[in-house]
Amino acid sequence: MGEAAVKIRPLSKPAPIKENFKMAYVITEKCHGERYGLCAGVCPVEAIFPGTYQGKDFMVIDPALCISCGACAAECPVGSIVESEDMDATYAKINADLAPQFKANPKATPRSKDEAPKKPGNKLK
Ligand code: SF4
Repeated sequence: MGEAAVKIRPLSKPAPIKENFKMAYVITEKCHGERYGLCAGVCPVEAIFPGTYQGKDFMVIDPALCISCGACAAECPVGSIVESEDMDATYAKINADLAPQFKANPKATPRSKDEAPKKPGNKLK
């Protein structure tokens, strides 16, 4: 009796793995001159730092520390935080560039999430 033929199904090609692939959340222009400061209090890895940029209050996320949990974006009353660098490349660079110098700053006192926005274009979620 001959051996039964074994049919081997070809494996589908695996998706390419991007080396060192890591995305970070980004604090955008809506926060520049607004800064509720609530996001820093919910970040589990302390990746958010306050400072002054072009003379206005701001916060930045250090992309080297962010684990993309999304807690900060949910906390921001005006929706100033986006979930990837691709969504705002300009502010992604600003966050990354400012993070090393903002790290040394004292924590910002958070504003109430019910307080009206300072910036005319911002609206409470
Ligand atoms: Fe922190 Fe999570 Fe926001 Fe990244 S996404 S800055 S880890 S709260």
